[in-house]
Amino acid sequence: MTVFDGMAQYGYGDLHFVRDERTKLRAIVAIHDTRRGPALGGCRCLVYATEEAALADVSRLARAMTFKAALAGLPHGGGKSVILAPDVEPDHYDREALFMRFGEFVEALGGRYISAEDSGTGLTEMELIRTKTKHVVGLRAENGGSGDPSPFTALGVRRGIEACVEVALGKKSLAGIHVAVQGVGNVGYNLCKELHRAGAKLTVSDVRDALAERAAREFNAEIVPASETHRITCDVYAPCALGGAINDRTVPQLRCTIVAGAANNQLASDENGVALHARGILYAPDYAINAGGLINVAQEVAGYDAEKSKLRTLKIYDTIHGIAERSKHQNTPPHRVADAMVAEILASSP
Ligand code: NAD
Repeated sequence: MTVFDGMAQYGYGDLHFVRDERTKLRAIVAIHDTRRGPALGGCRCLVYATEEAALADVSRLARAMTFKAALAGLPHGGGKSVILAPDVEPDHYDREALFMRFGEFVEALGGRYISAEDSGTGLTEMELIRTKTKHVVGLRAENGGSGDPSPFTALGVRRGIEACVEVALGKKSLAGIHVAVQGVGNVGYNLCKELHRAGAKLTVSDVRDALAERAAREFNAEIVPASETHRITCDVYAPCALGGAINDRTVPQLRCTIVAGAANNQLASDENGVALHARGILYAPDYAINAGGLINVAQEVAGYDAEKSKLRTLKIYDTIHGIAERSKHQNTPPHRVADAMVAEILASSP
């Protein structure tokens, strides 16, 4: 696929490349959409097998950020950046110089792209970028930062689960609702905390035994092997580990009424979402339910206020409720309903 074919496939026209001999920086910034405001999205720093793989990654991710920000009602478009990490030992290049040079690059874009942390970057890298530009979030608290996004993501997922439970099961409370949480890392652990407090019954799994054991101990959860989580008879299956949990193999094996979790890219394909709907399983579209972390970090742009982040994250209930109701009335899979809602929001943006 050529660069321009790829841009056409993902539906945008704004792609920036930088190469710097001195620092070994090779980076791509994809600005997918700025109709609702500056493009906001994380900066990945990974070793990519090929340049094409990096380009596909940044293009796909920037587009997803547009969808997530639009449905969350944020005044932002979608963007993403990837730094093709030098494939050498970490002490063979100057990581500080590399990220500061990247900061200059972000600055040169004049605020059309706001960077944040992602795989392979964190607080340290965002602070390095900040030495060269103000268009970066995910900073230290003393610099106006919003801290760990996971509790906000988990709060939003809990609200999304509540909405699904009301629409699919007709219950207004999570008391006694059985949720199987796959992956109890940063978000999964906080989600268990939320659900336990609400009286839900929990089954958990993690490929890291110690994490599953911690959740079992603290939240009275039952542990199952990671590969079995989706086969548990339960009300809600909550994928909170990797993408692709809903795929050709797992869809026929599910024994739940609702799929609602934090993981990005849960559907391996569009057809898997259609198959879930055909089976009568309600799916909470990932980018709608897991927007709490983005909502929280976006608040840094206006001046961080945890209470405002929380109030906006609580509204994920309304978003998921609206998607689920529309899906039911139109007999359309929820992921397609969500995509259509994003198209409507963007079409009505200036
Ligand atoms: P994490 O790495 O802290 O947690 C993921 C956990 O899943 C780990 O403990 C890992 O051991 C476990 N795991 C991996 N494969 C597994 C498997 N097959 N079965 C069971 N457990 C498995 O990551 P996180 O920050 O908690 O994010 C979880 C998911 O949510 C990711 O898909 C991420 O992209 C998405 N997400 C996270 C946030 C956030 O605020 N952190 C926001 C939006 C979306």
